[in-house]
Amino acid sequence: MEGDNMMRLKRQNRGAVLRCLHRYDGLSRKKLANELGLTPAAITKIAAELIAEGLVRETGAVSTGGVGRREITLSLQPDARCALGVWLGLGRAVLSAVRLDGSVLFSEDVLLSVPANAEATVRLLSDLLLMQIQRHALPREWIVGLGIAVRGVIGQDRRTVKSSFDALDTNDFPICERFEALTGFSAVLSNNVRALFAAERFFSRESETGSALFVRCASGIGAAISVRGQILSGSRGQCAEIGHIPVIRHGGKPCHCGKSGCLETIASPAAIVEDAQALFSEDRTPLLYARVNGRREAVSLSDVLEAAQGGDAGAASVTDRAADAMANALKSVIYLIDPARIVLYGPIFEHPYFLSRLKAEMTVGVDAAHAVPMEKSRFNNTLEDKAAGLLAVAKYLENGGVSE
Ligand SMILES: [Zn+2]
Repeated sequence: MEGDNMMRLKRQNRGAVLRCLHRYDGLSRKKLANELGLTPAAITKIAAELIAEGLVRETGAVSTGGVGRREITLSLQPDARCALGVWLGLGRAVLSAVRLDGSVLFSEDVLLSVPANAEATVRLLSDLLLMQIQRHALPREWIVGLGIAVRGVIGQDRRTVKSSFDALDTNDFPICERFEALTGFSAVLSNNVRALFAAERFFSRESETGSALFVRCASGIGAAISVRGQILSGSRGQCAEIGHIPVIRHGGKPCHCGKSGCLETIASPAAIVEDAQALFSEDRTPLLYARVNGRREAVSLSDVLEAAQGGDAGAASVTDRAADAMANALKSVIYLIDPARIVLYGPIFEHPYFLSRLKAEMTVGVDAAHAVPMEKSRFNNTLEDKAAGLLAVAKYLENGGVSE
């Protein structure tokens, strides 16, 4: 028992050192000891172990000011290990491997049907992953695990997909168990938006003590909330599903979640395009009409946003309604959890018209005390091939550099 506790404490301390080295992108032994409240002797011992295992290296010497006195910086060795990732979206999967610093070793896009047969899909993806491992000559002992990021609701056991909202055809699917059986690597599972938020935090190297809201708008609208640095999943794995907040009480459009009138049915890119197509005419949406040469079926999100920006009143009314509805959902979250910041992620936020409308709507009905900085992620639209693998990297670092 005592041995177990010692082992756990040792792993905890190693994990704290590894995460600290990541967060500061390298640190001296002395600063590590100060930061973590461990004795210099303990740090020296842990560092020696981690260096011997190849996980940490000594890099540049930092002058400390005194004559001839220099401090060596310890840094994570990003190439020491890697993790596999499976990103599972609607009609598409991304397979990847990332190094310990999140850089990508390989990534492969795989098109899937909607919905995709769950068992056939995990077999296909496992085979493709194993082929990539062989192609890149990755030794198995370098691979610390497999991260899986899936859209939808994760089961309470954090090993099954309760509902992937049509990405897979099977509910309550034991996805971790299946991937582990087929690949031999231990798997860790997360909802895709929470995985993106974790990746955003990993690359930002921030140690947030307050709370934050991460909003993703791609095919749907999802969000993730962190409180004291922890990303919440909720009591049933459905935390921050703002896309399914009911906004139209009567006569709303049906949503893929089974309800109608959800935020997604008016503010998702597909909903914006649909609403613009419904309004589409030479009179009501003249600029949009001209942009697509009168072909209603050719209307894309960027057509609608460009037309709105150019002064097309019809296209603007559809876009403004979407921005207004999204802002209302975000304002509720501000008043509920008092986040320090809101991070926006997804292609729609790259468009200046939508972003400026959303920002303008965010100020309506909000007093100065509740104004929250809201910015596009610095890593916008670049994390899908990293987020899944980083789930396994994070677990490995947390676990003190020990694979399970
Ligand atoms: Zn819904």
